[in-house]
Amino acid sequence: MREYPIEKTRDIGIIAHIDAGKTTVTERILFYTGISHKIGEVHEGAAIMDWMEQERERGITITAAATTCFWTSTWQLAEGEDERAVRDQHEHHINIIDTPGHVDFTVEVERSLRVLDGGVVVFDGVAGVEPQSETVWRQADKYSVPRICFINKLDRTGASFERSFNSIRERLTPNAVALTIPMGEEERFSGVVDLLRRKALRFEGAHGERVVQEEVPAEYVADMERWREAVIEQIAGADDELVEKYLAGKSLAVDELRAGLRRATIAAKLVPVFCGSALKNKGVQLILDGVIDYLPSPVERPAVTGTNPKTGQEESRRALETEPFSALAFKIASDPYVGQLTYFRVYSGKLERGSYVLNASTGDKERIGRILRMHANEREEVMSIGAGGIGAAVGLKNTTTGDTLTDPDHPIVLEKPSFPEPVMSLRIEPKTKADQEKMGLSLRRLVQEDPTFRVRTDPDTNDTIISGMGELHLEIIVDRMKREFGVAANVGRPQVAYKETIRKAAEAEGKYIRQSGGRGQYGHVWLRVEPLERGKGVEFVNKIRGGVIPNEFIPAVEKGVIEAVEKGVLAGYPLQDLQITLYDGSYHEVDSSEAAFKIAGSIALQGATKRADPVLLEPVMKVEAITPEQFMGDVTGDLNSKRAHIEGIGERGSVKVISAKVPLAEMFGYSTKLRSMTEGRASYAMEFDYYAEVPANVAAEIIAGRL
Ligand code: GDP
Repeated sequence: MREYPIEKTRDIGIIAHIDAGKTTVTERILFYTGISHKIGEVHEGAAIMDWMEQERERGITITAAATTCFWTSTWQLAEGEDERAVRDQHEHHINIIDTPGHVDFTVEVERSLRVLDGGVVVFDGVAGVEPQSETVWRQADKYSVPRICFINKLDRTGASFERSFNSIRERLTPNAVALTIPMGEEERFSGVVDLLRRKALRFEGAHGERVVQEEVPAEYVADMERWREAVIEQIAGADDELVEKYLAGKSLAVDELRAGLRRATIAAKLVPVFCGSALKNKGVQLILDGVIDYLPSPVERPAVTGTNPKTGQEESRRALETEPFSALAFKIASDPYVGQLTYFRVYSGKLERGSYVLNASTGDKERIGRILRMHANEREEVMSIGAGGIGAAVGLKNTTTGDTLTDPDHPIVLEKPSFPEPVMSLRIEPKTKADQEKMGLSLRRLVQEDPTFRVRTDPDTNDTIISGMGELHLEIIVDRMKREFGVAANVGRPQVAYKETIRKAAEAEGKYIRQSGGRGQYGHVWLRVEPLERGKGVEFVNKIRGGVIPNEFIPAVEKGVIEAVEKGVLAGYPLQDLQITLYDGSYHEVDSSEAAFKIAGSIALQGATKRADPVLLEPVMKVEAITPEQFMGDVTGDLNSKRAHIEGIGERGSVKVISAKVPLAEMFGYSTKLRSMTEGRASYAMEFDYYAEVPANVAAEIIAGRL
């Protein structure tokens, strides 16, 4: 396998609202890049389709966390005489990182955004921007990921490029730049006009694999010139070099415009927009061109920063093989053939087979066995993967999602992707008692794969409770347990994952002293608890001075404190957003033990939080309900009865869009209710937004119900 210089590498993800066509686009990309890679071989269209069918059945390519493929821009191919020579010179190496479409899997989106350098955002040309597209768009903004867009499905009845494009400009970014416009729409959709090239592009062959450039038909020339003028103004306006020339009235060459657009896209100042129909094999090659032409290579992204775990100092790593090795494990997957795969992205240096690396997040050493690169139709074993590269390691034992792997001599912990807290939980038990242990094992495996999935044991009943991002998320977990681990389970009703916190600072003493004959018990601590900002979690600070509690007992105190934190003080929900300071205490030469200090820590924490005005917190969801105008009154009235805060009512085409914040507890069964209220014509989307205090009257009921 040929090695590609890092400038010719792209690490990208395809991001889309569910149903926008991400799977179809991905399949087409793998299909077209498969051809380009197999150039020179006999390739009957039918044989390739067969291969596609098989792949579809096995689902490997589409669900793999990362797939590698190769592409040479059609701009280059159109210019060169000798196709082979052009490919040799201009072929790029593209790693496609899988990103899921459903909001229940925000975590997957977050973790993939963290490791990719650019995104292709796919839209449905009928619906335009949908609520979840907005969600992912904001997430991509958070990680400053440069993007290009593809307006798909222009062959569908009701499709409109212009409307969809405007919805991107109005709802996502005013900086969207159209690079192609469709020739015809709906059943008349036949190809696209490339605005910069001033050419009509058609996609010929059984699967649209041949990109043919023609003169633009007369009926589209006026449109092309109108759109093109706007494009040039936008590109020039975003670039200091070009704007002067433009304002001086000089004409800008196409190459200059493309270079300017590349700079602006990488700087997240502009977003190129393409269009087509993946299903009808039109326009997908231009996405690949766009990835190469406008999205950054790993060296064009800012250096990554992290913390040196030895010194606590911030350090950075550039995407160079000469820098010390650093990589982020972004997904753990079980593979039927090789066992556990740890997908990683190398940020600097090089990961070599047989080497030892440090998991800087845990302090464990790991030996790197086999390293794999996933291609559309095969997996390739490689000796090393360098900066910017993406691969999977086989057999890592102690590495979970979000951990940093580094050179043991130059450790760095890269910023972890931030994961939302699980908001829904349910009780689960194996159908047969004999499966208890297997269930525990499989749940632990799933926790390792998915940082928004949690398992805990109810301290009162000893039941196993699992929590995740929503009903669908938990359903999938239960289903995977059955399919992959052979454990069938009974599950309880999904419940809101409440939390507890405190509203003011307080102090308390915890004493555990037993001195009756023989060796006694002696643990004694003073703790202070203080509220932290929402989302800050739990911090334990040790302020013991002068050895009033010997160092060896401090971890035991912390352990007792954390156990008590998990149990809460109001209704058995875990406490969060508080700082706990251990500032005083005493010990006994003979009788003090870890066990005694652990109990003392737990007693003190309970005492302190009870005095600190504890309250219950509940997850509040961002809800968007879309309804025909005639049902507006019913839908808003119903939301108002659900403790909703309605934030706005907008219009989208002929329907009304109601934006609201609603406690999750009120949203159970909402889809059925909404359907029956609106003759099935309204729909909604929701996602977790923040935790808020439960109003006192509601909290009283929750507390009473639990105790
Ligand atoms: P995903 O959920 O985003 O992965 O979307 P899929 O690729 O599974 O597509 C959802 C549905 O839309 C499927 O029935 C596809 O066949 C269909 N679809 C995808 N692309 C197009 C397109 O360009 N035109 C039309 N008419 N349908 C499409």
